[in-house]
Parts: sequence; C-alpha cells; structure tokens
Amino acid sequence: MPPSFVLPVLPDGRLEQRIGESKPAYNEAEAVTEANRCLYCADAPCIRACPTGIDIPTFIRKIATGNVKGAARTILAENLLGYSCARVCPVEVLCAGACVYNAWERQPIAIGRLQRYATETTLDNGGMKALYASSLKASTGKKVAMVGAGPASIAAAGLLAMEGHKVVIFERKQVAGGLNSLGIAPYKLKANDAFKEIAWVFDLGDIELRTGIEVVGGDFTIEGKITAKSLLSEFDAVFLGLGLGPDSALGAKGEDGPGVHGAVELIERIKSDAGLSLAGVSHALVIGGGNTAIDIAHELALLGVQEVSMVYRRSSEQLSAYAHEIEYGMKHGVRVRTERVLTEIVRDASGAITHGKLAHAKDGKAVAGTEELVPCQLVAMAIGQSRATDVAKAFEGVELDGKGRVVVDAATHRTGNAKVWSGGDCVNGGKEVVNAAQEAKLAVRDMLRALAG
Ligand SMILES: Cc1cc2nc3c(=O)[nH]c(=O)nc-3n(C[C@H](O)[C@H](O)[C@H](O)COP(=O)(O)OP(=O)(O)OC[C@H]3O[C@@H](n4cnc5c(N)ncnc54)[C@H](O)[C@@H]3O)c2cc1C
Ligand code: SF4
Repeated sequence: MPPSFVLPVLPDGRLEQRIGESKPAYNEAEAVTEANRCLYCADAPCIRACPTGIDIPTFIRKIATGNVKGAARTILAENLLGYSCARVCPVEVLCAGACVYNAWERQPIAIGRLQRYATETTLDNGGMKALYASSLKASTGKKVAMVGAGPASIAAAGLLAMEGHKVVIFERKQVAGGLNSLGIAPYKLKANDAFKEIAWVFDLGDIELRTGIEVVGGDFTIEGKITAKSLLSEFDAVFLGLGLGPDSALGAKGEDGPGVHGAVELIERIKSDAGLSLAGVSHALVIGGGNTAIDIAHELALLGVQEVSMVYRRSSEQLSAYAHEIEYGMKHGVRVRTERVLTEIVRDASGAITHGKLAHAKDGKAVAGTEELVPCQLVAMAIGQSRATDVAKAFEGVELDGKGRVVVDAATHRTGNAKVWSGGDCVNGGKEVVNAAQEAKLAVRDMLRALAG
C-alpha cells in the first residue's frame, strides 16, 4: 500500500486491477537459474544498449552469487528508477535485444526480469533509505523546485535529496508519477507499484510533494497555481519535467461527443477511475499506429471488448509501434487494419456511436468511394500528444525548438536560463521512462556543480 504522504490511495474497482502481469516476478530459484545463463561478456553489448549504462553483467553475476542487495546497488547507481524501468523498459529493443544470445537464435537473457528481482527483493525490505543510509548527506540549506512529478522529476528529486538538497515538487494532477503511474500498460506496471517506487525515492531525503498545483506564467499566484517567477525567486534551481500535453484530435466528422476518447486520457481512467465502465462496448476502434495505439487496443481486448481494431493509415511496415508489442496484442485478439482511414464516426439519434466509417488509404489519404461501415461503440484516438511546453517560456531565457521541445545543452541538460534544467519527454519529444531517468541524471550532475559553486 503506498504511503499517504505521496498520494491519496486510489480506490478499488479500477479496471486496471482486472489485468494480470505479462512478466511476473521471478522467485529466487528462477532468478539464479536465469542469471547463470549469462556469459558475462567483455565489452557487453547489453550495457551499450542501456540508455542509463547499467553494468548488466555485473548485477547479473551478483544475483548468481546470492548478492541480491549488491545487484540492486549496481542497478540503482546508474538508474534510480531501476525498479520501474525493469518492468516497463522495452528490453526487446534495448538490452535484451542486444544480448549475444540473439545472434545464435537463442532466447536472450531476461535482463528486465532479473533487474526486477534484484530491485524488488531489496527495496521491499527497507526501501532505498536502508540501502543508502551511510551515504545520505546532511542538509545543505539549498532548495530546488521540480515542475511536474513524472519520472524525470522523481529521479532528479531523489538524486538531489541524497546530496542534502531540499526538493519541492509541483504537480498539477492529484497524484504523482506522471505517465509511470497513469499511462503505463497495467500488464507491465500498475499505479500502486509506481507509487511504491516514488515512496522509496521520497525516503531518501527532504522531498515535498505539492499536488493540484499548476506552474504557470504571469505575475500573480492564485489558488491552485504558482508562477514561474515565484519559483525562480524562491528556489536556488528549477527542473522542468513537464512531459507532453493532451491527446491530439483527428478532426473526423462525428468526433465530438460521447464514446470518443483520447487514448492517453482513456488509459489514465482505466488506471485511476473506479467509475469507468466498458459495459455495452463490444467493438472498439483505435486510431493510430504507434505504441500508445497498441497499448490501449491491447488493454481494451484484455478487458473483454470482443473486437478491437487498430486502424492505421499506412502500411504494416510503417507502423511505429514495437513489433513485439503488436505481436503480443494480436495474441490477445487485437486486429490491425492497415491502409485504412477513419472518415466519420456514425451516431444514432440518441448520439451513441454505432459505426466507424473506414476508407481504404493510399499514401496515408482516404480513397473516395472505398468506405465501409464497421460496427463500434467506442473510438480511441492515439495519433499523438500535443506539447505542454508553453509554460517553459515563462522561465526567462528558456527556449523551445520548432517542435515545441525545451532546448537544453545535450551534456548538462541546462536550458538558456542558468538556474533552469530540464529532461524527459518535454525535451526528447516523447521517449521512454529510462530516457527520462538518464536525462534527469545528467541534469542533476550539472545542477550539483552549480549548487556547490
Ligand atoms: C500510453 C503510454 C504508454 C507508455 N508506455 C511506456 C512503457 O511501457 N515503457 C516506457 O519506458 N515508457 C512508456 N511510455 C513513455 C513514458 O511514460 C514517458 O517517456 C515518461 O513518463 C516521461 O516522463 P516525464 O517525467 O518526462 O513526463 P510525464 O510522465 O508525462 O510527467 C510529466 C508530469 O508533469 C506534470 N505537469 C506538466 N505541466 C505541468 C505544470 N505546468 N505544472 C505542474 N505540473 C505539470 C504532468 O501532469 C505530469 O504528471 C508511455 C507513454 C504513454 C503515453
Ligand atoms: S550480452 Fe547477454 S550474455 Fe552477454 S553480458 Fe549481456 S546479458 Fe549476459
């Protein structure tokens, strides 16, 4: 159960609770057997494929020799969010995808599951504080503000707190964790497990979470909001971990009205809203060809929607979703319809959705006269997220690029304002949790130098 200082406990009855785990935790015997398969390669390709550079063969060897705590230390030394990353990283295209076993057409080492075993076993017994007790620093009197409580900010907050800096996190939502708690597919990580990790991080030092507070531009702080100017004057440094904005809309006829959801918004409700019901939904259309599209399609299929179609306007070779995720979703009944465009959402007299009108597509565009009516009661739009970075401009000197991403120095993650750093999706345009953790690490390294000097 997550501690109440991190967030109000989410109510029971949420749909995500009905979904089982795709990669359940190893027990000791399973972990040691798998660890013993590792060849402890020199110049190991798995390390090079990890965005945070975890020394994978070393932690696996420690598991094999019974030093599970040591394994957790090796992991967390490079990635403070090593527990959630173990569960959510697309290892198939990162570390495990680079494992030498692939070249021999043999099963690669299950690096993610071993990493989960090491971190979960260790941290469930005393958390991070027990692991780092001897190295936590006394208070420096310096204060750092985090904007957003997603993985980028949580990782940065933990690293700063260990060095004795006070951290205050401002989060506009009611719960912490960003997409790690409210976006990740439940078969990988459920909200309460994401909160568990946040609690471990918070235990490392003086970290305060202020939820329901949005950081805004302008001159006046009103209830529920705080200005960028106040943060710059009250804190020694600021970290922007803004993530991305709301789901984009398609602009199809009939799109406005009940039954049409943004995919990220619907996933958030599956994970957090006990009032959400899919009763009466037997057919659903998911529009998009990326990882968010396959995630929501897969979740709907696992929640009992009989026919879920992912509709993509280009060819199957151009799908941007990971092949392993599509294969796994299809195993649970997701149908992928490529070279199709949704041209209209058809509703009955009461406004309820009855069908989606799909046209064949050429070069991503609908071909006139090829429409067919496909029954559906729910449509999820997974065609991208807008940028939420406008607030960044309220911090004098911070710049955005042409795609609305916060501009930083690649090595230090410092922005054009010497007191402001940034990392995660708002900088990289939307990658993975492990990238947010790595960018936070780079930012904190530079921030520590600046705070010391
Ligand atoms: C549906 C979905 C599934 C995903 N699945 C995976 C996966 O399986 N594995 C993986 O590694 N990655 C996955 N990702 C990507 C991953 O979740 C992100 O890369 C990661 O969460 C980025 O972290 P962040 O801290 O940059 O942003 P976020 O997680 O988006 O957090 C940003 C936080 O900032 C808050 N915020 C924004 N503006 C303000 C403001 N002005 N004031 C106060 N608070 C503010 C937001 O409310 C939010 O809580 C997925 C993403 C999506 C959308
Ligand atoms: S590449 Fe595979 S076998 Fe080699 S060290 Fe990494 S996990 Fe072990």
